[in-house]
Amino acid sequence: MSISDITGAIPDIPRSSAYRHLADLQSAGVVRRLAARDEFARFELAEDLTHHHHHLLCSMCGRVIDVTPSPDFERTVASMVDELTRQQGFHATSHALDVIGHCSSCQST
Ligand SMILES: [Zn+2]
Ligand SMILES: [Zn+2]
Repeated sequence: MSISDITGAIPDIPRSSAYRHLADLQSAGVVRRLAARDEFARFELAEDLTHHHHHLLCSMCGRVIDVTPSPDFERTVASMVDELTRQQGFHATSHALDVIGHCSSCQST
């Protein structure tokens, strides 16, 4: 959800409070901000409360598509992450993969 989705669903909550609550929920590890580098800030429940998945983010319309990767995909990502982090003596415990691009409806316009 974006801030606008939240304030649209609960109009009594001022935008500033919505931001503050989200910041608190983020530090408590309940909510995570999607790693999009576009102008759309979006938040979702932490994976402990949902399940592991990845995102396809449309940088034109802001649409977010949740994708659940196959076990094969996850194994490949895990071994690539392992390779990337090992040289740094870093122990990876999870990963987040958000793909930024253009959704099918934006491509056809
Ligand atoms: Zn789009
Ligand atoms: Zn994954």
